[in-house]
Amino acid sequence: MPDRYFSETPIEGPLATLAGSEAHHLLHVMRAGPGDRVTLFDGAGAEFDAEVQTLARATATLRVLERREVSRESARELVLAVAIPKGDRQKWLVEKLTELGVTSLVPLLTERSVVRLAGSALDKLRRNVVEASKQCGRNRLMEITAPRSWNECIEGFPEHRRLVAHPGVAAGLTAGSQTPTVVAVGPEGGLTDHEVELAQQHGWRPIALGPRILRIETAAIAAATLVALADGGNHG
Ligand code: SAM
Repeated sequence: MPDRYFSETPIEGPLATLAGSEAHHLLHVMRAGPGDRVTLFDGAGAEFDAEVQTLARATATLRVLERREVSRESARELVLAVAIPKGDRQKWLVEKLTELGVTSLVPLLTERSVVRLAGSALDKLRRNVVEASKQCGRNRLMEITAPRSWNECIEGFPEHRRLVAHPGVAAGLTAGSQTPTVVAVGPEGGLTDHEVELAQQHGWRPIALGPRILRIETAAIAAATLVALADGGNHG
């Protein structure tokens, strides 16, 4: 993947401007100069060949040479609703779900949740999505939604196949669905029986991800991978 830079503003005309950490990366880490070629994306689906035109102290202006519609998205929508783990494991979770092509991550608040994400923590995780997308070549950003309570989550997604990862249940994933899917993953302390029963009443199906107890982020990554495989691969 060539050097990719993310433009916060939609790229529409013949010029694009990079600011903030993207400009810093181009100017001070890559030490780019006028005439250097890079790839830009703005999260809306396309990527752009561009040439550095002018450099200021904290911004760079680039001339857009070519716009290409390049999709590296999965064939179907996949939402992961996850009780966010603590510390560094958050970044790791976001990075891997972005790489695996997950469409949206919904931070879940459950009875036994420990982590309650505030605005600045969400912003930091959204920045991790950009970093992972630069690296893996996604031209659409994985959305990180506002946190949702368990009730809000299970009452949502009426059009989706709704799965709740719960250790010890008999059922696993079944193959062959091309429908949009949402998978819920509980906190370290697990989902309560009551939460799982409520979800079932709203049409969610409990599934096991194997005979071992996985940590939150492992369960989320396994679910994303298994859904993609069960549905015939992770291709667009
Ligand atoms: N003692 C907790 C329990 O029994 O639910 C363990 C929770 S586990 C660390 C965190 C979350 O990952 C669980 O709530 C579940 O959503 C998911 N998970 C972990 N291992 C799983 C498995 N083998 N099958 C299905 N889901 C699993």
